[in-house]
Amino acid sequence: MAVPFRKTSKARRDKRRTHFKLAVPGMVKCDQCGELKLAHHVCKVCGYYKTKEIIKQ
Ligand SMILES: [Zn+2]
Repeated sequence: MAVPFRKTSKARRDKRRTHFKLAVPGMVKCDQCGELKLAHHVCKVCGYYKTKEIIKQ
């Protein structure tokens, strides 16, 4: 079985992990109610998308 020739340094290991991001990106604040919502989606809390009411409550 192949084995790494050198130990990965802390710097190299941590640089690799800079690409590990939070599981759910693309969350933005709703302009209407301020809740966190998915970007480019209708807000589930108030039903607004881009100042227009999409889902009537
Ligand atoms: Zn909203």
